[in-house]
Amino acid sequence: MFRKARIKLTLWYLLIITLICVLFSVVAYQGLIFELSRSLRRQALRTVQDRIGENAQPYDFPGGFFFHLQLPRLETLDAKIFEEARKRVLLQLLFANAGILIISGFAAYFLSGKTLKPIEEMVLEQKRFVADASHEIRTPLTAMKTEIEVALKDKKIAFKQTRNLLNSNLEEVNKIQSLTDYLLTLSKYENADIKLATETVSLQEIVNKVVAKIKSMADAKKISLITEVKNIKIQVNSISLIELITILLDNAIKYSPKGSSIIVKGKSDHTMITISVADFGIGIDKKDIPYIFNRFYRADSSRSKTNTHGYGLGLSIAKSIVELHKGKIYVESEVGKGSIFTVELPVQQF
Ligand code: ADP
Repeated sequence: MFRKARIKLTLWYLLIITLICVLFSVVAYQGLIFELSRSLRRQALRTVQDRIGENAQPYDFPGGFFFHLQLPRLETLDAKIFEEARKRVLLQLLFANAGILIISGFAAYFLSGKTLKPIEEMVLEQKRFVADASHEIRTPLTAMKTEIEVALKDKKIAFKQTRNLLNSNLEEVNKIQSLTDYLLTLSKYENADIKLATETVSLQEIVNKVVAKIKSMADAKKISLITEVKNIKIQVNSISLIELITILLDNAIKYSPKGSSIIVKGKSDHTMITISVADFGIGIDKKDIPYIFNRFYRADSSRSKTNTHGYGLGLSIAKSIVELHKGKIYVESEVGKGSIFTVELPVQQF
């Protein structure tokens, strides 16, 4: 598809260059022929005055498309020289044009490739995304379908079994719902035109809200949440900031062992708001670190060592939120020791 588009674009570039070349050549050709004719006419007139006087017969010189020159017919005037010069000019212009078109052809092919590259990458990325999302939706759907089919074949299915089936189906429906929620959030924050409204809020309040929301999850694993957040006012979009810290805390709990602790720190100076979430969990392998912010990426260790379910979308949403704030997010991690996720958001000046 992109090869065809590249060739088409090259042809369009070439058509434009050809039109410019033809226009330029016609003007250059007429100009040169006019100058040549004028020189010959001057020379002829001088000879007329010198030798013959006023009885000279006019001679119509082939003077190009725009200019018709009346020159005296004289032995001194060699129309052949004029004709040869004209042909040479024409030939040189043709060669120059052919050269320009060949070079432009290669340049146009190269440039159209460069122009289409980001679009091609975007389309491929989009295709990968759709394939991954479809795959993630299909997995719970297939599980549900199989369970329902098996249950329908059992003519004497008991009430308890039916309840179990419904519970299991509900679990799968919840998975699909959480995936679609993730996808919607991702598409919201990946929309380049979105303008986040900001307000003045307390950083401590924001962190406390997230901690309160996620406390039951931490309690279930007997994980203690320690907060060291300065009581400062910041100018941010609070909804997205809550979403961002929730993702980081949710991951920290998911990938930490029972009974461990998580430390959330927050501070701000005149230029930067810095929030960090440190855990003492499974850590991330060095080879996975460059990819964990990619959509649908899950490190192998998180699948095998923990029994947690996830879609690999949380950190890509976190990254989109940080990018919308023109900030940065990075991780320092060691396998078996833990991870520290740090977010730096520039302080908004109003
Ligand atoms: P999910 O957690 O749903 O798999 P994320 O996008 O939030 O998706 O995270 C991507 C991957 O990054 C996870 O699968 C996990 O491998 C790794 N990861 C993220 N946070 C942590 C953490 N605190 N400790 C260890 N690994 C983590």
